[in-house]
Amino acid sequence: IFKFRQILLKNCNEIANTICLENGKTLDEARASVMKGIEVTEFATSLANLDKGGRLEVSRGVHCEYRREALGVVASITPFNFPAMVPLWTIPIALTLGNSFIWKPSEKTPLTATLIAEALKEAGVPDGVFNIAHGTKEVVEAILCEPLIRAVSFVGSTKVARLVYEQGHSNGKRVLALGGAKNHIVLMPDAQSDLSVRGISDSFTGCAGQRCMAASVLLAVGDPKKIDPLISKIVERAQSLKLGVDMGAIISKEQKAFLSAAIERAQKEGAKILLDGRDATIPKGFEGGNWLGPTILDQVSATSSASLTELFGPILSIIRCSDLKEAMTIENANPYGNACSVFTSNGGYAEYVANSAKSAMIGINVGVPVPREPFSFGGMNDSKFGHGDITGENSLNFWSNIKKVTTKWEAHFQNWMS
Ligand code: NAD
Repeated sequence: IFKFRQILLKNCNEIANTICLENGKTLDEARASVMKGIEVTEFATSLANLDKGGRLEVSRGVHCEYRREALGVVASITPFNFPAMVPLWTIPIALTLGNSFIWKPSEKTPLTATLIAEALKEAGVPDGVFNIAHGTKEVVEAILCEPLIRAVSFVGSTKVARLVYEQGHSNGKRVLALGGAKNHIVLMPDAQSDLSVRGISDSFTGCAGQRCMAASVLLAVGDPKKIDPLISKIVERAQSLKLGVDMGAIISKEQKAFLSAAIERAQKEGAKILLDGRDATIPKGFEGGNWLGPTILDQVSATSSASLTELFGPILSIIRCSDLKEAMTIENANPYGNACSVFTSNGGYAEYVANSAKSAMIGINVGVPVPREPFSFGGMNDSKFGHGDITGENSLNFWSNIKKVTTKWEAHFQNWMS
């Protein structure tokens, strides 16, 4: 895994270029996503030091200890939006813990998988220990029905996450299935201007909004006279982004059509369009691409489809709220639970959001609150089925069994363990 990390670093540009080609991210985004995968790999290399187990003399001459053991064969099913990063959440940790691994990449982004497999082979992972099974639903079903596969992680939409969790579980497997998201950002009138404008704009436009931690709903709290100048700056910053340079493309024609229809529907439901991504300038020579610029919808109602459904594109819906309590009631009512952020200068407001949000990853003046390793990635509610997290310290018990060994050597020690 140390060698694997070196090879990923060496090949970072090649992997990032392939991600650009098959996924449509910008090169900077693709590179950053590989670097996040490398961060998880680094965490895996430190397991031998971090996870040193525990041993205690529990009575005279009697010792209890923990031993971690591999499960055997495990599998991972991944989505299109991070062709290297999401698989690298699981591969290095599961391999380091001694498992053999089967990866089912997204059929929409199958090319990056080969580069990861080649890097593992070059690092010396023996044949058969790491495997790729390309395909769609049939391959997933085969994985879920195979008795030799002991644990399955899944990352993708909530609909499929729930299916995979239920089927895998009923077949006696350990399953951790991460689903979709609808992330809320609370904007307080006392928020620092630069920090909030950048944080919010970059959160909903980064990766063209196709990430499970992207801002989707902005809960603008308080007096419009105070909050509107911040919203105008968010619009200005988002409007300045150039497609093909600062922002990548949407994954497919179908998804682009779905997003355009969602904007139209929001307008019919009463939203006011502050910025319309359908009018954005398309890069010359790439007219056939699936482009959609940043879109900002204001005066969105909390019960409209733009507020409730996961859109998975660069669309920010603004819901006006009279106070923080109302904002958190709206956040709490959404069925998902990946991320919730607040932009404020007030520690009391920040604590209130961190404590009351029904999301597992909280940002305080951070627009994309992905925890750095070893703090573990994982949501709650409809964003996660199963226990533990997919990375970091909270992932170790998912990819392994803990054996508890009690030892006594000396017959003359008479005590309660006799
Ligand atoms: P998806 O659910 O369509 O596909 C994910 C995987 O499931 C793919 O490998 C696909 O081949 C497989 N699959 C698709 N339909 C299936 C079915 N009926 N039965 C069995 N397997 C099936 O998701 P996607 O469009 O690739 O990715 C986008 C989604 O992933 C979004 O909802 C996004 O929020 C979510 N996502 C979540 C996280 C997270 O950490 N919670 C991270 C990234 C993406």
